[in-house]
Order: sequence, then C-alpha cells, then structure tokens
Amino acid sequence: MNVIEAGTKCCERVRGANLGWRYEYKQCSRLATVEREGKFYCKQHDPEARDAKRAASHARFEANLKAQADRRNFVTACEQAIRHIADGYNDPVGLACEVLAKEFGE
Ligand SMILES: [Zn+2]
Repeated sequence: MNVIEAGTKCCERVRGANLGWRYEYKQCSRLATVEREGKFYCKQHDPEARDAKRAASHARFEANLKAQADRRNFVTACEQAIRHIADGYNDPVGLACEVLAKEFGE
C-alpha cells in the first residue's frame, strides 16, 4: 500500500445534481483515506468497509427472518395447544408448560 498523497480525492462516482431527465454523476469530493487495488477511496466508499456493512445488514435481515419464523411456530404451537384443551385434553397445565418450555426453556 502506497502512502496517500495529500489532497487525493476518493475515486467513487456519486450522484450530483438533478438535470431534469437524469442525474449528473461526479467524482466524490471527500479526501481518500484508503487505497484498494490501486484506487483511492474515502471512508464511506471504501469497498471493504462497504462489504462489511452489507454483510452485517444481511446478517440482521436473516436474524429477523428467523425471529419471525420462530414467532410463527410459537403461535402455531399455542393454537394447537388451545385446540387440544378445547377438545377436552385432560392436562392443560402440563400442555401449556410444554409449549412454554419449547419456546422459552422454562
Ligand atoms: Zn468517496
């Protein structure tokens, strides 16, 4: 990695003025802070930082999907337990404890 010369600008193209039917694209005006494969980038456009940010965002999305699926499964289990109780299941407390234990480890 070379030393970044003072005043070197980030090489990223960014959206500028609205020209009515399209946007003007211009070079990012920030000073470069890193060099990646011979190109200079500011902190915001650093490809490695951007990839890490996208990976973190993807991980949050996946975790959110899993949480939603877990919640749906819990609601389904509750509904099934209530249906069993409505049908005359003879140990409603035990059934409720079983469903809660599966969800919360109680
Ligand atoms: Zn930039």
